Amino acid sequence: MDRHDTRSDSPDGFTDQEATSGARLTIDLNALKQNWQDLNARIGAAECAAAVKGNGYGIGLEQAVAALNRAGCQSFFVALPDEGLKARKIAPTADIFILGGLMRGSGPDLLAHDLIPVLGSIEEIREWQNLAQTYSRPLPAALHVDTGMNRLGLRESEVDDLLGTPNAMEGIDLRLLMSHLACASDPDHPLNRQQKIAFQHLRSLFPGTRASLANSAGIFLGSEFHHDLARPGISLYGGAALDAHVHDNPMRSIVKVDARILQIRNVPAGEGIGYGSAEIAKRDARVAIVAAGYADGFHRRAGSSDNNPGAFGIWSGRKVPIIGRVSMDLIAFDITECCAHNNSIDPGPQRGDWITLLGGAVSIGAVAGHAQTIDYELLTGLGSRYDRRYLEDIA
Ligand SMILES: *Cc1c(COP(=O)(O)O)cnc(C)c1O
Repeated sequence: MDRHDTRSDSPDGFTDQEATSGARLTIDLNALKQNWQDLNARIGAAECAAAVKGNGYGIGLEQAVAALNRAGCQSFFVALPDEGLKARKIAPTADIFILGGLMRGSGPDLLAHDLIPVLGSIEEIREWQNLAQTYSRPLPAALHVDTGMNRLGLRESEVDDLLGTPNAMEGIDLRLLMSHLACASDPDHPLNRQQKIAFQHLRSLFPGTRASLANSAGIFLGSEFHHDLARPGISLYGGAALDAHVHDNPMRSIVKVDARILQIRNVPAGEGIGYGSAEIAKRDARVAIVAAGYADGFHRRAGSSDNNPGAFGIWSGRKVPIIGRVSMDLIAFDITECCAHNNSIDPGPQRGDWITLLGGAVSIGAVAGHAQTIDYELLTGLGSRYDRRYLEDIA
């Protein structure tokens, strides 16, 4: 085994990124691959694809596609043609589906790179059929049917109209029929069952076509949601698919964020910390200021105020709460408890040490909860100025 620890190239001429970046983002591609294998096992004979849109949910589209492809994943879902091109460079033989569908005029580019649009309207179908005439061959596509989400896809009545016309699907090499669940994070939501029944009916209108309904949450809803292919995203990246996963997540965490301590200072009781003096020190406090902030995707709302505790970090295995607001480039942590001994055996946090902001004991769900958002938004919002490292064992 060969342990790879790759860093993003440093364009600034400094050799030691370790000492020049404020925060480090470590992405465990082994855990990503294990999450894929775990989901693949959960769906039995169905194919396990991967959603890698949004720059691979923030971790890097190319790295995600490469690792998942090595794990055995052969089908990828992206939102946009541009993302499809990036995926194609990494996975020359994979099926790559464009969830945004056929953006007007994008057809020739999609065909040049063997990208499959997920057609979601009659207009898109007609444009693809016209192109098929030009190319004198059937063109590959997936068809998105809407079963209750009202976002993309043909409504049931439109499918009926379409199939009522002669040679309705002429020129289309239909690779997949898909729909998307709107409320699957709540297994008790009645819409799940309604969408499943509507999808079964629509599926019967396209005999012989492979079918796909489940995202990550759909996989956890049970085998009657698995069909021929599942399209997990968030569970691959260690985020919560079901609401229950926020507290009890069966997936491995793959993302870790550590930020460097720039300064340690004393704050006398009664003084405020940071913008707006949002939290006033209730006692004489020791405070560590670290080099990360909302510009790194660590949301401002994850900070604390006098009325609301914020997220916490980990220093040397010990929990340290955020104190005050998160700034663009800086976060303050209350390290008073860690300084209690302050002797040579237990000197407490030092300038230059790292505090873990995300990963390990700090779940994405915990930080997202404090930030009043969801794991998806936290992951896709991780900034671009980290010292990014990818861990992967290559056999
Ligand atoms: C994003 C997306 C997925 C993946 O969803 P997760 O909830 O991240 O598993 C699957 N299908 C469609 C249509 C999507 O837009």
